[in-house]
Parts: sequence; structure tokens; C-alpha cells
Amino acid sequence: MYTGFAMSCLFCKIVEGVVPSAPVYQDDLSYAFADIHPQAPVHILIVPREHIGSIDEAGKDKQALLGHLLWVAAEIARKKNLGSGHRIVVNTSGDGGQTVDHLHLHLLGGRQMTWPPG
Ligand code: AMP
Ligand code: ZN
Repeated sequence: MYTGFAMSCLFCKIVEGVVPSAPVYQDDLSYAFADIHPQAPVHILIVPREHIGSIDEAGKDKQALLGHLLWVAAEIARKKNLGSGHRIVVNTSGDGGQTVDHLHLHLLGGRQMTWPPG
């Protein structure tokens, strides 16, 4: 169960199953689900099961977890046959455009990405 701030956190509620989502992958450390407003044919969010507000709040003790989340994103990309390319994004805080304060990776694919991002 979650406590404190996490009680009001949307992605904690999704991890707990209190708020419904379309699951894509899960394991002991992470949960991945479809983004509700997809920005590409494939748009999946990968989150840690534990509440971490942003990558800025992830201390040294979270290094292995951060690496695992990246591996999960790459594994989903392989399973979704995104061999022609994809993009993994971590929006952080205000200037980064983060709107949900629970660390998440966006996996985007299925179309040509552009650079620079908006
Ligand atoms: P960010 O703007 O980087 O914080 O990304 C938050 C993402 O969460 C956005 O792409 C939203 O579309 C997505 N989102 C918000 N609410 C939900 C939800 N209930 N289920 C799935 N994705 C959501
Ligand atoms: Zn949370």
C-alpha cells in the first residue's frame, strides 16, 4: 500500500489497480501501461511500482531501478517490433513538461520522430 503523498498519486493508483489501465508489462519493480492520450501509434508508460516523484528525486540507491526501467522500455520495444526505431522520454518538472509527479518513461514508436522536441 501507499502512504503520504502517494495516496493522491494517479500512477500509484494505477499500479495498485485502483484506477484502471491497459497493462503492457509488469514485474516486481515496474508496471507498464498504455498512455491514455497516445502521441504515436505505440505510446506506453513505464513506471516504478514504488512512488518516486521524478528522476530528480531518484537517489544513488535507485541506480539499479532506473537501469531496470530502461531495460523494460527496450524489452517492450523489441516485443512491439519497433526495430525501425523508437524514442524513450523522461519529462522532468515544470520546464520538462512533467504533468504527473510519479517518475515515468514514455516509450513512443510507430512513426517517424522529429527533432528538436517541442
Ligand atoms: P508527463 O506529461 O510526462 O508527466 O506524462 C504524463 C502522461 O500520463 C501523459 O502522456 C498522459 O496522457 C498520461 N496519462 C494521464 N492520465 C492517464 C491515465 N489515467 N492512464 C494512462 N495515461 C495517463
Ligand atoms: Zn506515485
